[in-house]
Amino acid sequence: MSKNPKPLVAGNWKMNGLKSSLKQIVKIAGKIDSKKKKPGCEVMICPPATLLTAARDKAQGSSLKLGAQDCHADEAGAHTGDLSAEMLANAGATAIIVGHSERRANHGESSAVVKAKAQAAYRAGLVAIICIGETAEQRKANRTLSIVTMQLKGSVPAEATPANTVIAYEPVWAIGTGLTPTPEDVAVVHAHIRKRLTVQMGEKEAQGVRILYGGSVKPDNAAELMAVENVNGALVGGASLKAQEFIGITATYKS
Ligand code: PEP
Repeated sequence: MSKNPKPLVAGNWKMNGLKSSLKQIVKIAGKIDSKKKKPGCEVMICPPATLLTAARDKAQGSSLKLGAQDCHADEAGAHTGDLSAEMLANAGATAIIVGHSERRANHGESSAVVKAKAQAAYRAGLVAIICIGETAEQRKANRTLSIVTMQLKGSVPAEATPANTVIAYEPVWAIGTGLTPTPEDVAVVHAHIRKRLTVQMGEKEAQGVRILYGGSVKPDNAAELMAVENVNGALVGGASLKAQEFIGITATYKS
């Protein structure tokens, strides 16, 4: 993978979306492949698992990729209600978000659990989108960089490569709040992440890993945030639910 990896804009629908939402997938797939609107980035939607196969079918023939939002670390077994990476691949996912702060907080997921889930994604031949980020309290206490270091050390497997891993830096306090760090703050954290990845993976590999920014990205702030050095795309929550808003964000990257 090159020093300037192709950016990725991924939408995380979280626990939102019924069959009626598939029309958003159709709209996104139609726009990103149109001659005039084709963005210069990869585009992915991570719908709830209930919609994955139907979304895959709707997106067939387009460059829109589909991802999942979580997985169990095991391949199969007695885990009622859970889904394995293999099942998600079978349903149409090409990537899995792991370690989202909502899972770390609401399901008590440690970095060790997140690492095992990333390894499960690799086992199934999928990309792991590994989320990290500090809380408001941690930022106030000036602990942002040490938290991010700890999460990277604990969550990124030794087998990580630019092809199988994407890092998403998502300050917890920016998710769904309308608040964003300044571009200068984002630059500091993303440069730090790149430095830490260099320690963990070696320089050549670390340069190729895409580091996404996530947290209240909207069409009107995307250009400013995506222009920051070491920002290789976005993980988008709320604004990915409506095709038009999401396309507005992908359009930040001109083809
Ligand atoms: C997210 O939860 O991954 C996220 C970035 O949410 P939002 O864009 O709504 O802040």
